[in-house]
Amino acid sequence: MHVREVALAWGAATDTGQRAENQDSLLARPPVFAVADGMGGHAAGRQASVVAVERLARTVEEVGEDAGPGQVLTVDLLRTAIQRADADIRRAATSLGDARGMGTTVAGIALVVDDGQPRWAVFHIGDSRVYRLAGSGLAQLSTDHSVVQELVDAGMITTDAAAVHPQRHLVTRALGVGAQAQADIALLPVEPAQRFLICSDGLTGELRDEEIADLLARAPDAEAAAEELVRTAATRGASDNVTAVVVEVQAVREPAPEG
Ligand code: MN
Repeated sequence: MHVREVALAWGAATDTGQRAENQDSLLARPPVFAVADGMGGHAAGRQASVVAVERLARTVEEVGEDAGPGQVLTVDLLRTAIQRADADIRRAATSLGDARGMGTTVAGIALVVDDGQPRWAVFHIGDSRVYRLAGSGLAQLSTDHSVVQELVDAGMITTDAAAVHPQRHLVTRALGVGAQAQADIALLPVEPAQRFLICSDGLTGELRDEEIADLLARAPDAEAAAEELVRTAATRGASDNVTAVVVEVQAVREPAPEG
C-alpha cells in the first residue's frame, strides 16, 4: 500500500480575532498539514510561525507529492524538518532588532511511510492541538506542552480551571525559544472515514470539545468544517488568532497489482 493509494480532502481557515496581527501560520500541502502559533513581540511572532511552515513546505517539495519509492516522507525526515525549523528561527532571531521571546508552536499530521506502510505521523510542540473525529467520537491526539497541562497532570487544577487560568497561554516547549524544542511524534494507522483537526489555541479557547465534535461531524466537507469552526470562534469575539486545518481520509485503496 503506497501513499498514493490514500485519497485525502482538506480545508483551512484562519482569523485574526481581536488581535492587531495574525501570528498564526498554516500549511495544507499533502503529505503535510500543520498549524503554527507564533509568539514574541513586534514582527517576531509572525515571522517565527512563517519560518516554521516554510521549512515544512520545503520538506514537502523535497520529497515531492508524487515521489517514487525511496523519496517518500518518513518520520526521520519529518523530525529533521522540525529540528531545522527550530534552528531557522533561532538564526532569524539574531537578525531581528527586537526578537525577544521569538518562537512558535507547531502541530500537525503528516502522511509518512513507515515499514512500507502509510501512517499518520501526529506531531506537536506547544499548545496547538491535533484532534481526530472517528466513529468512536472526538479524541485529542496531542497533549499540550503548557504550564496549565502540567498542573492538570499533577492533579492540582481541573481542565475547567485550566481553561480560564491566567497562565493558560504559557507553553513549556516551543520552536526557536527556550531549552525544549523537540516534537512529540506518534504514528497512527491510516483509515477511511476519519476527520482530523489541527488548530491553534485561539480555537480551543473559544469552543468546547463537544462543540468542536459537533461542528466537525455536521460539516459537509473538510473545507466547510474548517471555515465553520473558525467563523464560530471569530463570531464569539475571539481574543486570540484562530486557525484550523481539517483533513479527511476519503478512501484507502489497495495498490493495483504489478504486472
Ligand atoms: Mn494563540
